[in-house]
Amino acid sequence: MNMVIRDGLARNFLAGRWVEGEAGARIAVEDPATGEIVAEMARAGERQLAAALEAARGSVERGDLSAMRPGARADLMRRIASCIRAIADEGAPILCRESGKRLSDARGEFEEAAAYFDYYGGLADKIEGKQIPLGSDYIDYTVFEPVGISAQIVPWNFPVSLAARSLAPALAAGNAVIVKSPELDPLALALLGRAFQEAGLPEGAVSILNGIGSELGARLVASSEIDQIVFTGSVPTGQAILCAAAENVTPSLMELGGKSAAVAFEDADLDRLVESVQGGIFFNAGQVCSAMSRLLVHRSLYDRAVEAVAALAGGLEAGHGLDEAAHTPVISAGQLDGIEAMVRAAPGQGARIAAGGARLDRAGHFMAPTILADVDPLSDIAQQELFGPVLCVTPFETEAEAVTIANGTEFGLVAGIFTRDLARAHRVVGRLRAGQVFVNEWFAGGIATPFGGIGKSGFGREKGVEALYNYVRTKNVAISLKG
Ligand code: NAD
Repeated sequence: MNMVIRDGLARNFLAGRWVEGEAGARIAVEDPATGEIVAEMARAGERQLAAALEAARGSVERGDLSAMRPGARADLMRRIASCIRAIADEGAPILCRESGKRLSDARGEFEEAAAYFDYYGGLADKIEGKQIPLGSDYIDYTVFEPVGISAQIVPWNFPVSLAARSLAPALAAGNAVIVKSPELDPLALALLGRAFQEAGLPEGAVSILNGIGSELGARLVASSEIDQIVFTGSVPTGQAILCAAAENVTPSLMELGGKSAAVAFEDADLDRLVESVQGGIFFNAGQVCSAMSRLLVHRSLYDRAVEAVAALAGGLEAGHGLDEAAHTPVISAGQLDGIEAMVRAAPGQGARIAAGGARLDRAGHFMAPTILADVDPLSDIAQQELFGPVLCVTPFETEAEAVTIANGTEFGLVAGIFTRDLARAHRVVGRLRAGQVFVNEWFAGGIATPFGGIGKSGFGREKGVEALYNYVRTKNVAISLKG
């Protein structure tokens, strides 16, 4: 067994201490590129959760972060950012091994995580209420208070950067956070605990617990002790969590899945489109909530576009993320089985395999980069999220038809438009049912731009200034000056 992770890191970060799981229970962590077990992660249970909740409540009641001068909290956030940068060299290979992603992308996650702490650090001393005029007999003002304990459930596709996406604004606003890490790749995320320690974050303000979603995660979200749920993950899990949230009326933020479409009009720049397809559906082996999983192409450009994206897919070399391979594995055998089964069924519903179409004959969990052409927009493959390197291409004749197909799923996370005609781009932006629209570049935007979904893609927005206000609640104070 090739244990690449030192045991000391494969533990839960419980309010500033590194602890084992329930009765020494552990979860095996696999390298998806080889199938080897690379570490065994301590598995937290009821006792560790109770201790994390107690520590978080203590932190909230003492006002560890909320009573701090906002400028000092801002400085703390920036120190966390630099401590995250300092662990990137150690963390990136760990993340690469446990998730299968490219080493440079793993490093990019640490960079992005640090950038979130810098960004929200810059806002920590700018959370300002307002004064509301009520005439000379009253003084009225609003204050923003932290929500309290934020329970955050993180998925496996970008464990480090997605954890930071919610942790940074929550801490900047003065909350305590309990993170439930993804059981498939919890190791690099646990390392963030070291950055918190080194930056001097008050103990109790953050715990990172590793455990099975349906056990530890379900217990956390059902707890009456928490004040908020931030969930990033799949629709069925989000639905289960919303049921648990209803019991305690716990405010929730849902960042769920997608089946996002790019619409390429007849005047689209084909080179730019192909470049966007490469990032849009093959980055991280397509395991991106905002992946370009559908491409709608105007009939006049359709054959050339299918040929170009099929050539792109056929040219991507598979390999280990440590070797910076162009094409990396999906996270697990189960995930690969599901993707391959969906792809194999697609020709039965009219699709044509233009590239790939099956798993690669090698160790690890590799799905061939796949292009399905002539996809019926109502077929299963066009409607369900696969979370893999599979692009569905469909032709269209008119703008109205393209909009109908793009909007024709139960999701609404992102959408894209490829055209040189800005008037058309603006018009179509207004008609697309999505939380964000990319024009002529998939994934345009960054940590400063609000991100979130419509429909079954969820509700609430992460990233940007707007997201900070998820982590506070407004209190209005009305003072009578009469008499
Ligand atoms: P998942 O729903 O299986 O798991 C997500 C997390 O929820 C994991 O930590 C898991 O342990 C936990 N969990 C599972 N059951 C739970 C329960 N009953 N109660 C509490 N927690 C539970 O999702 P996944 O497979 O890890 O991630 C892939 C999904 O996440 C895709 O659908 C993808 O689109 C979505 N995603 C969305 C965004 C976004 O910002 N919208 C970002 C990344 C991923």
